[in-house]
Amino acid sequence: MHRNFEPRRKICPVCQRPFTWRRKWAASWDDVKYCSRRCRGLRNQGKRKSP
Ligand SMILES: [Zn+2]
Repeated sequence: MHRNFEPRRKICPVCQRPFTWRRKWAASWDDVKYCSRRCRGLRNQGKRKSP
């Protein structure tokens, strides 16, 4: 039986890609919001691009 909800999977709000749990996040998984440092950096740059 498959579960729709994967507790160890999140969607990166920057690149909209799903990413899965990694061992390096074992202690801070609840705080992880981005798939990579790069996305985290992009998020914090505050660039505004009008579509
Ligand atoms: Zn990302």
